[in-house]
Amino acid sequence: MLNNKTRLFAILGCPIKHSFSSVMQNKWFEKEHLNCAYLAFEPKDYELECTIESLKKLKFNGFNITVPHKIKALKYVDVIDKNAKKIGSINTVIIKKNKLYGYNTDYLGFAKDLELKNVIIKNKKVIVIGAGGAARAILSALKTGNTQQIYIANRTLDKAIILAKEFKVKSIDINNVKDVLGNVDLLVNCSSCGMKKDDRLPFSFCKIKTSLIVYDLIYNKKTPFVKFAKDNKLKVFTGEGMLIWQGAYAFRLWTGKFPDVKIAEKFLKKFLKQGINV
Ligand code: NAP
Repeated sequence: MLNNKTRLFAILGCPIKHSFSSVMQNKWFEKEHLNCAYLAFEPKDYELECTIESLKKLKFNGFNITVPHKIKALKYVDVIDKNAKKIGSINTVIIKKNKLYGYNTDYLGFAKDLELKNVIIKNKKVIVIGAGGAARAILSALKTGNTQQIYIANRTLDKAIILAKEFKVKSIDINNVKDVLGNVDLLVNCSSCGMKKDDRLPFSFCKIKTSLIVYDLIYNKKTPFVKFAKDNKLKVFTGEGMLIWQGAYAFRLWTGKFPDVKIAEKFLKKFLKQGINV
């Protein structure tokens, strides 16, 4: 039951109506019998600073940040965790004694999901498609996993070059992906390609290993990457696991305990079928 002692949490993103996070976090609070509530807010870019300031004034205990605010929000926290600093974005904030502490749990969520799916990256060749906020977290997770080679390709080459320099990986023109894909063990789609109906695979047909694994961060659309994997009978994973685990790590930062991930899996399936009324 909500009352005067309810601890408040939130997610800030724009758009936010499609987000599963509030369903997931509230189910977890309920399951753990915690007097907490999690709300969703949709600040525009120019409203981000005052929204964060308001959460602080209203004594919220923490919040998540999602697209498109993960990088900008760095400016508004007092302390940034060292991994989040390296990645260059935050998705989780703890508010304690009027101070804001920023973290990134996306890279943890991705690494955990790979581990649970037995996707081995040690000594493997990986290609990352996309060079936005999510790619930064994925590169960070891959770098700590002792991969043999990481390529990054992006629709806008300049952005891939910048990220490649920062993370000490190899940038590659999206039109040349076909030249290296034959040697790659894991392809991670970190781009938004597939969110729009007419989106096409950003590289042309090429030779691939039959053991190539495709991991698409997008989980709510049949993307061209998923189709490519299915057409070629490749193993393919989509971003549900990462989504749930980044939330689980955020939950642990706020409450000190890990939530029931199975419950989230069950509700995410329903959510993807039925929308918000799960
Ligand atoms: P972002 O910062 O806006 O970056 C988007 C990236 O996608 C850019 O590199 C952009 O290329 C590229 N892109 C967009 N449309 C494209 C198209 N039609 N063809 C090829 N490339 C295209 O977004 P983000 O935060 O990195 O998120 C990327 C995706 O990952 C989103 O769809 C998001 O939902 C998903 N995601 C999932 C999880 C999860 O937990 N499963 C977590 C984070 C993100 P340009 O540089 O050329 O614009």
